[in-house]
Amino acid sequence: MKLISIVVPAYNEEANILSMYEKLVQELHLLPYRYEIMFINDGSSDGTLLEILKLAERHPDVKYISLTRNFGKESAILAGLHRIQGDAAILMDSDLQHPPELIGQLIEGFEEGFHQVVAKRSRTGDSKFRSFLSSFYYKIVNAVTDVDFVDGEGDFRLLSRKAINSILQLSESNRFSKGLYSWIGLSKKIISYENVQRVKGTSKWSFWSLVNYGIDGIISFNLKPLRVCFYTGFLVLFLSLIYIAVTLYEILKEGVGAPGYFTTITAILFLGGIQLISLGVIGEYVGRIYNETKRRPNFLIDISNADDYDES
Ligand code: UDP
Ligand code: MG
Repeated sequence: MKLISIVVPAYNEEANILSMYEKLVQELHLLPYRYEIMFINDGSSDGTLLEILKLAERHPDVKYISLTRNFGKESAILAGLHRIQGDAAILMDSDLQHPPELIGQLIEGFEEGFHQVVAKRSRTGDSKFRSFLSSFYYKIVNAVTDVDFVDGEGDFRLLSRKAINSILQLSESNRFSKGLYSWIGLSKKIISYENVQRVKGTSKWSFWSLVNYGIDGIISFNLKPLRVCFYTGFLVLFLSLIYIAVTLYEILKEGVGAPGYFTTITAILFLGGIQLISLGVIGEYVGRIYNETKRRPNFLIDISNADDYDES
């Protein structure tokens, strides 16, 4: 019988762990597969680890990893992927926003031979403003980057062993998982589900963390922003050359009129702005190069009951 590994990152989810486990098992029992449920405690400051330990004590199918601090969801998932043994992995949030009822459909897709089966969520229940921002964001990202991001396709997905191994081969430390899933390629099937609101605990996304996530998405996957700076620089240079020529012509023809304070200052501000943007973009890349060259691991494990494989 094939082994299915459920990978569940958890950060301050003490109120959800138990019901998550129960719902998972309820579904998994119906299916003709062996399963393991891998909880990754991402440095929670509440009783999440305790809840997981209690489960692990009673159920041999519960595996866990506890990280030394909060490394972020992406790193937590990566830690889980390193330690699972399944023929396929299903990545799920621990807040019950990813309905376990879909596990059957995900596995069906896997049996049909797809390497990635993605559960795509609708945006019902999200505020109009947020849905607008995200669809706008995805339009921009897809225009600018080289990989394909789809709104609503998150981490809730099944990965075949081949897809897991491909993800594990990517060693970069600045991980933007949506991009990585797209980057590895392989066959993909999409199933849809209605968005579910979180019942217990709070979302870990603040406005600014979403903005930063958005920037990561654009920067991680291409060098086009650098090129945009380059072209904008050229355009500005071209325009100012025309401006200079025209002004020079007028001065030669009519002599110096009123000193052009306004035009001078706008030109300076405009150029200053462009330069700052360019510097910022370059800084982003330099920062990333700096991070990659440090070659730090993506996570550190504190305690775990999963077999020790090689560290990433
Ligand atoms: N999570 C995590 N580490 C973090 C932040 C979140 O492991 O630093 C987990 C969290 O416990 C949950 C999942 O990632 O299982 C999704 O988080 P959240 O519900 O806050 O995101 P949202 O559903 O609002 O996008
Ligand atoms: Mg959530």
